[in-house]
Amino acid sequence: MYMIETKNVTKRFGDLTVFQNLSVNVSKGEVLVIIGPSGSGKSTFLRCLNHLETINEGKVIIEGEELIESDKALIRRITTKMGMVFQNFNLFPHMTALQNVMEAPITVKKEDKKVVEERARKLLTKVGLGDKMDYYPSKLSGGQKQRVAIARALAMEPDIMLFDEPTSALDPELVGEVLNVMKELASEGMTMVVVTHEMGFAKDVADRVIFMDGGKIVEEGTPAEMFTNPKQDRTREFLKKVI
Ligand code: ADP
Ligand code: MG
Repeated sequence: MYMIETKNVTKRFGDLTVFQNLSVNVSKGEVLVIIGPSGSGKSTFLRCLNHLETINEGKVIIEGEELIESDKALIRRITTKMGMVFQNFNLFPHMTALQNVMEAPITVKKEDKKVVEERARKLLTKVGLGDKMDYYPSKLSGGQKQRVAIARALAMEPDIMLFDEPTSALDPELVGEVLNVMKELASEGMTMVVVTHEMGFAKDVADRVIFMDGGKIVEEGTPAEMFTNPKQDRTREFLKKVI
């Protein structure tokens, strides 16, 4: 069974078809990296996986269960299995790092506060922020904020993590600390779909790379295939620009 399966998924915004008949499978423990130019539909694809966007045609199947729009309880159950990390952190500004991490398990999953607090402290320590738990986001650097965001997603104990350009808003010297946390997650066997322009990360960590352009999968393969021997001209052109 795949952790993520999309079958001929089509997504439109009005007259704009973002992608058509997109079929992608992700296995358990796999790290799939999606690369491609701006506007190619990468974010929209990720958002369709966890129902932040609804699809027009096709199927999205998560751990064997199809996301059926009309079944709200099912949607809630399936989407809580997926954590998502965005480019712009999206932390609650009026909550400390610890409160940010504790929020969803308590309000969404109705978990016991003590249990959640213990987990949140462990997660913040794991992402290297053991000494920043009581800081508000405004007092944290971009890299620290993004690590809080990762800890917050992990607090829901997801089976799948989706990352949408998690380092694109960061100063260059802060990118590494976030990528290192993601690398560690990958090495622990987390199933991950990562949209990124960090080709070094893709080379080191990805099991498979997809190059998307204009809503189509132009090429996919292992990092070795994609980076050392791309078959398509469009892939070569893109890689020339970003590497
Ligand atoms: P990427 O993440 O690869 O840069 P996106 O998925 O954000 O691409 O966007 C793909 C296309 O869909 C773009 O043309 C974008 O303008 C369009 N788009 C994205 N979100 C919306 C929306 N909510 N409404 C209308 N068009 C959108
Ligand atoms: Mg995007």
